[in-house]
Parts: sequence; structure tokens; C-alpha cells
Amino acid sequence: MRQLSEKIAAVAPSATLAISDKAKKMQREGIDIISLSIGEPDFDTPRHIKDACIDALNRGETHYAPSNGIPELLSAIGEKITKENHFSCRPEQVIVACGAKDAIYDAMEAVLNPGDETILLTPAWVSYEPCVQIAGGKIVQHAVNSKTFQLDDSLLERVNAKTKMIVVNSPSNPSGAVFDKSSMQLVADLCEDYDIYAMSDEIYEKLVYAKEHLSLAALGDMAHRTITINGFSKAYAMTGWRLGYAVAPIQIIRQMSKVQQHSVSQAATFAMWGAVAALKGDQSCVGEMRTEFDRRRKYIISELNRMGYETAPADGAFYAFVKVCGDDREIANRWLEQGHVATMPGSAFYAPGWIRLSYATSMEKLKEAMRRIRQLGVQ
Ligand code: PMP
Ligand code: GLU
Repeated sequence: MRQLSEKIAAVAPSATLAISDKAKKMQREGIDIISLSIGEPDFDTPRHIKDACIDALNRGETHYAPSNGIPELLSAIGEKITKENHFSCRPEQVIVACGAKDAIYDAMEAVLNPGDETILLTPAWVSYEPCVQIAGGKIVQHAVNSKTFQLDDSLLERVNAKTKMIVVNSPSNPSGAVFDKSSMQLVADLCEDYDIYAMSDEIYEKLVYAKEHLSLAALGDMAHRTITINGFSKAYAMTGWRLGYAVAPIQIIRQMSKVQQHSVSQAATFAMWGAVAALKGDQSCVGEMRTEFDRRRKYIISELNRMGYETAPADGAFYAFVKVCGDDREIANRWLEQGHVATMPGSAFYAPGWIRLSYATSMEKLKEAMRRIRQLGVQ
């Protein structure tokens, strides 16, 4: 048989999805696993969003829609961005995709040429590098400060003539850190001084606790070179709806549009009507979920600190990022095999020696997970 694609053979499978599959398999075998592995809100999608989707189905919104998204959703996103994220956004600057992940993929394909370098600020989520690789680009890692999780001038050392893009993800998956204005400004200055594009993945923007969320595109002229990624999975508990979006200069949207047209065509039409209700409807559901995440965050961080673990600044998202002594993969495996608590080893996020625990699960389960981890002794 002829050899399959070398490009795809070089891509790692998704570590987040792999560990969650393993935990689910153990659960099916009857083992009482508490999963703190995958980052997925445990709440149901709010009723008014589901109703809007059901109404759309009942009205016959079951056919193809404009490939960039239904005009009602493009306008709702444009208004949201202009009002909340403080940079101007017309509907032509928006593309709705099958999840933020799909928007990231489209953007990498749209911007990168073979050999182009993309700076990835680590620790970083698992899917940026594969998307860059599939587009033919190359990742250059740059670690944030391991105490503050902020940036400093050493970032400049990663730039060379091949640098085409930098990926920013604040609040961060996996660390939960939120970039200060000074870190954001550093990225903006770098992009403007060296003519670099930025991808700002702001999918956790609604889950910021004691700080303020800043959009990279709102700084100076950054809207002209930034692809802002966002979606509905985290803020509105809509992971299974597969809906996300990108906001970018029109010339980038046109390129992304071609990738989308020739791959998935568009996001599901009736699902987009649910997203219109999410953005235009009452936002109290978002506040209620954030309040509950905050309660769990305070609990899990104080428990881990009481056990003696150092944790990253948990200012946003729904992850506790914990420093361990020893091999994070072995420890996460021990927690799973012996404690029946599934977590994510930091190595998957370019951060060996750390473990990510998602607190997007009930307080009751979190308490039991902390009891089990405590019982295994501090690692
Ligand atoms: N970006 C980050 C940082 C994430 O954690 C996720 C979670 N899956 C995504 C993007 C993708 O979200 P989705 O495709 O579900 O919209
Ligand atoms: N973003 C979530 C996580 O990191 C969901 C899984 C994924 O899409 O990678 O666990």
C-alpha cells in the first residue's frame, strides 16, 4: 500500500480528547471515575437558547444558509464585539464556523505559507500546533513567566524574518491566567513593529473572576492584523452545538471563507438561530454560571494549596493548574488508575511538571476528587 500523508502522520492526536475517552471507557466498565480532564461546562444549555433552535427547526430552517453564517448572527456578533470588546466590527468581518476550533483551523490555513513561523505562548492548549502544522507552518514556543504567567521583553528573541503570527489565549487554557495590559501591549508592539499577524483566542472571556478581560484587537491598530476567535461552547454551555466564530480584517475573512466553503460549507443553520438567542437574549445565565465556577474555583484552589500544591494564578477559564514534584504523566496516571480521578498532564500543554484539573464539574464531585487526591499523598 502507498504511504499515507506524511503531514498528518506528524500531527499528534488530541491529548484532551484521548484522556477524556479513556476516562469514559473506564466509566463504562463500571469504575467510578471523576473526570476533571476535559474542559467542558457541566451545565445544560440555557432554555431560551434551546427553544430558539427548536423554533428554527419547526419553521423549516433546515437548509443551507450563507456560508459565512446567517446575517442575523453576523450582525449580532458585530454588535457584541463593537460594544463589549471595544473595537469596530462590521458583519463582513465575521465568519461563523463549526466551533472555535474550526475557526482556528480556517485561520491558520488562510494566513500561513509553508515554513512560516508562529509563536506559541506556553503553556498552551493542544490544538494550535496541529492546525499550524496542517497549514504547513511551524511553531516556535515561548514560555510565559512561570510564577506570574505574564510576558516580558524576552519574547522579542523569538522573532525572525519567518515569523508570521503569534497566538494569544487569555484567559488561558490550561493555566487559567489572564494577561495584564502590559503583556497584551507587548504583543501589540511586537506585531506592529515586525509586521506580524495575531490570533487572539478569547473563548474564555466571560469566565474572568477578579480581573478585567482585554481584547488584543482593541489595542492601537491591532484590529487590522488580529484574528479574534470566540464561540459559544464555554460562555453558554454549548459544546455539542459546534459553533464558534472569527472576527478579522475582510481580506482574511475572504480567505477563511474559501477554506470553509470547500470543507464544511457552513455551521448548522438551526444551531445558528440558537446562537442569535444566546447573544441577544438575557445574559443572566452567563453570570449565574460564572458565579458557580467562581465558587468552585475558590474551593479547589484553597484545597490544593492546603495540601501543599503550588497553583498558577487561577484568574480565568475553569482550570486549576497545579505544580507537581515528578513526572506529570506518571502522577496523572496514578491519580486515574489508583484514585479514579482523571486530569490532564501538563506535558500535553508544553508544561511538564504541571497537571491541569478542570473545575467545570459539580461541587460534590470536586469535593470527592480532592478527598481522593489527598488520600494518595502529595506528589
Ligand atoms: N480554544 C480554547 C482555548 C479551548 O479551550 C477550546 C475548547 N475546546 C477551543 C478553543 C475550542 O472550542 P469549541 O471548538 O468547542 O468552540
Ligand atoms: N478545550 C477543552 C479542553 O481543553 C475541550 C477539549 C478540546 O477541544 O480540546 O479540554
